[in-house]
Amino acid sequence: MNFKALMLILLTVVCAYNLFLQIISYLSKNNPTPENVKDLYDAETYKKWRAYHGETSRIGILSTLGSYVLYFAVIALNVLPKVGTSANPYVSMICVVLLFFTLDALVSGVFNYIYTMKIDEKYGFNKSTMKTFLLDQVKSYVVSLVICMGLTSLLILIYEHMGDWVLVLFSGIMVAFLFIVMFLYPFFSRLYNKFTPLEEGELKDKLTALLEKNGYKVRAIQVMDASKRTTRSNAYFSGYGKTKTIVLFDTLIAAMTPDEIVAVFTHELGHGLHKDVLKNSVISIVQMVALVLIAWLTVRTESIYPDFGFAGRNYGLALILVLISEFPLLSPVFSIIAGAVSRRAEYRADAQAVKEGYGEALISGLKKLSRDNLADLAPSPIEVALTYSHPTLSQRISAIEKAMK
Ligand SMILES: [Zn+2]
Repeated sequence: MNFKALMLILLTVVCAYNLFLQIISYLSKNNPTPENVKDLYDAETYKKWRAYHGETSRIGILSTLGSYVLYFAVIALNVLPKVGTSANPYVSMICVVLLFFTLDALVSGVFNYIYTMKIDEKYGFNKSTMKTFLLDQVKSYVVSLVICMGLTSLLILIYEHMGDWVLVLFSGIMVAFLFIVMFLYPFFSRLYNKFTPLEEGELKDKLTALLEKNGYKVRAIQVMDASKRTTRSNAYFSGYGKTKTIVLFDTLIAAMTPDEIVAVFTHELGHGLHKDVLKNSVISIVQMVALVLIAWLTVRTESIYPDFGFAGRNYGLALILVLISEFPLLSPVFSIIAGAVSRRAEYRADAQAVKEGYGEALISGLKKLSRDNLADLAPSPIEVALTYSHPTLSQRISAIEKAMK
């Protein structure tokens, strides 16, 4: 079997699947709007939504095709072996990864630019200046490069010394890594944003009372300066145990009444009480182990490398194959399962808000959130089942209304 031909076929399958999703999404803009969310957009906004949805779908499709052409060309034309000639496995890995990630960043950078600075700008979502945008792109590029090269170096070190034991050891390291990233997430987000404690007042009093009533401890309630980048709003928990912090976007505070914010917050509290973050982590761990398994299979199958024009094993190529075709082939399976689990958790978190007496406020809060984010009101059910982490607004409102009776 020629692995290069196989990989180009897998790459094509992955691209076709992504295109299928994007085309379904594009076509769904003509779906009729459900009754209970008909009042969300006025005629003008609805027209704006359809135009926005159309433009982002089109750029999404072009972006998928752009990456596909790049990946296909790089592999088909044996570009990577030209730089991966060093006998030192670390050096040849770094050269290959550096070249590939740079090409990838340039291509996806163009589409990110159109998406953020052109389309979002045109519809009034974008708050990034050209400087913030470029800095964000460079930071993401550097962070992903450092993480991928660091992990691959670790894989080389273990595999060269311990052989197949890498599977056990590396799985452990990846799981530990996952937890470390989650613990460090608050630190990472400080690279991009400023956090300030929520000021005293009605909102803070209500939130604190709610936490006390449920016996739930957090270290702080903080406001994040999301308005620097976007007009979209959100709230989330970050950290574990004693470092647990609640983060509210400043855009959320600006757009909603205190009751609506408390309702959104109660929803987040519902997630906390049901340990939903932990459940998501379990799915992530299984996914991580699957990732290590295919990486190990790729690394140990030595006959792969000559097919791609390399003299011997190249860990950089192994990483790239895993990232662009093998894992994307497997990940839809996980996203279908994780999506179903997560949508159930969303209903339960909404029910928590109803239980605390914030059902009405949650409905109006969710409507505001969806309106501000120009949410899709009538996505295709196939798209929801395959990719959505949240039920649609209409589904959530129906469930909240049912729970309030
Ligand atoms: Zn939620």
